[in-house]
Amino acid sequence: MNALDRLRAGYEKFCEAYFSGDNSTFKDLVSKGQSPKVLIIGCCDSRVSPSIITQAEPGELFTIRNVANLVPPYTHEEEAYHGVSAAIEFAVRHLEVEHIVVLGHSQCGGIRALMQSEILEQKDSFISTWVSIAKAAKDKVNAQLPDASMDQKCNVCEQEALLISLNNLLSFPWVKSQVDAKKLHLHAWHFDLDSGQLAEFTPENHAAQILYHYSQSK
Ligand SMILES: [Zn+2]
Repeated sequence: MNALDRLRAGYEKFCEAYFSGDNSTFKDLVSKGQSPKVLIIGCCDSRVSPSIITQAEPGELFTIRNVANLVPPYTHEEEAYHGVSAAIEFAVRHLEVEHIVVLGHSQCGGIRALMQSEILEQKDSFISTWVSIAKAAKDKVNAQLPDASMDQKCNVCEQEALLISLNNLLSFPWVKSQVDAKKLHLHAWHFDLDSGQLAEFTPENHAAQILYHYSQSK
């Protein structure tokens, strides 16, 4: 079965589940509109689908995915196309989500691109400019862990970058005001592809708190 046939077969199963019998999930989502409570900002990485990891139902997650799950700082340059910022704006100002989760992960290619400066030196690269959002995380890791392996540095940088994204979220005035009013709560999660562990990070408590651990034991 080729890659697209596999997806078409998956789509048929999806239709059986949601568009047959008395399942009214989509009828309700059409008649009532979407009202997700959570905006999740994840990486483009094919292994880290927010909906699959959380087993979310249609309508539950408003999702943004980009290279290295980064949130840019609030700016208003006229010439730029602020796709991520526009999606955050829609989620916060129009859908009025109650939570924003920035979901990072181990083995992140975007963070590795940031840590390995060859990619950053490539001319005409969209990736280098994009991942430089987290340059302060890279600088901190290199200063604090000069002798660590590149794998270790990348892992810590993935986590430090989450905290930069949380801070950048607060640079959006309508995010800050909702957070101050306790109507919006910010979270940073890190998913480990090797172990399946999901850890939560906050600026106050940088030590990983395991929320959930999937184990394959029978
Ligand atoms: Zn990634």
